[in-house]
Amino acid sequence: MNVAVIGAGVSGLTCAVLFVERGDRVSIFADEIGSQTTSAAAGAIWFPYDCEPREKVIAWALRTREVLVDLARKPDSGVSIIKLRQFCRAGRIDMPDWACSLGATGGENEFQMEVPLTDTTIYLDYLRKRFGGEIKCAHLERLEDVDLAFDLVINCAGFGAKRLTNDPGLEPHRGQVAIVPKIDNVAGAIVCDDDPLMYVIPRAHDCLFGGTNELSEDRDVDLATRQLIVAECSRALKIDPPKVIEDRVGIRPFRKSGVRLERGKLRDGRAVIHNYGHGGSGFTLSWGCAKEVVDLA
Ligand SMILES: Cc1cc2nc3c(=O)[nH]c(=O)nc-3n(C[C@H](O)[C@H](O)[C@H](O)COP(=O)(O)OP(=O)(O)OC[C@H]3O[C@@H](n4cnc5c(N)ncnc54)[C@H](O)[C@@H]3O)c2cc1C
Repeated sequence: MNVAVIGAGVSGLTCAVLFVERGDRVSIFADEIGSQTTSAAAGAIWFPYDCEPREKVIAWALRTREVLVDLARKPDSGVSIIKLRQFCRAGRIDMPDWACSLGATGGENEFQMEVPLTDTTIYLDYLRKRFGGEIKCAHLERLEDVDLAFDLVINCAGFGAKRLTNDPGLEPHRGQVAIVPKIDNVAGAIVCDDDPLMYVIPRAHDCLFGGTNELSEDRDVDLATRQLIVAECSRALKIDPPKVIEDRVGIRPFRKSGVRLERGKLRDGRAVIHNYGHGGSGFTLSWGCAKEVVDLA
């Protein structure tokens, strides 16, 4: 088949890899590539968060986890297994059932477990190289704008799907993070999800401080928010605030009725498979969803 994938974030790249590896001819069309995408702003830790529907999310996440655990054995992939400490400042934390079955341990207000981390500074390039095909820079007004030479269209447009498919259910869950130099003695990720949301994710060459989750489409960096993020993470680590190397803002594509993963038809009769609306879990669901897309094709 001639397959057109719309989107060069983690969802589009992962689908493109699977189609190419089963022998299809694939091109990616995207108006933002690499560091411009929401995917490049992610902490990209494996952890189901801010995404629906629950049962499907856990199944996709567990399938993805298996692939990421395998990829962690390849040094060039940017995937590693790290310890995650999830805690609440006040009150009890509920350890999810799936976390217990993956070996999480903990007490009243925290738990710990090993999770895959995809270092986006390496992993998105790894996917791009593994795909090996063409990424065409193009903004589409409608899915039907894809050249008729393609028989199948895969819609992985993230929040862009709101306009592309007129989907009123997509909500922009804005996230801002600050990237700081590597910090000594921080080997694992720390996440606190009672207010204010706070996470520290050590990566190969730097450390990611987060973060926010608010209803907004604004992609501009907010300097006051940066200051709050750095102050809260530094307080948790008991260090002086480090200098910020870079700020990133992304729009988590949250869909109230859940991830849209289904087959449909374009107005010109061609087949389309939608794969968007992964909210705060795009990396966590990437391989599970991409495999289902290929099954639907
Ligand atoms: C701060 C932050 C932290 C996060 N942390 C995590 C985490 O720890 N773990 C996790 O699993 N997830 C995390 N996420 C969520 C994750 O980043 C998203 O779910 C994921 O990036 C969505 O990927 P995507 O490929 O679907 O969309 P995107 O990365 O947004 O890519 C969409 C692509 O579609 C293209 N596109 C859109 N519209 C058009 C159009 N009309 N024409 C042409 N191209 C178009 C865009 O240019 C882009 O290439 C985080 C997100 C943020 C913002």
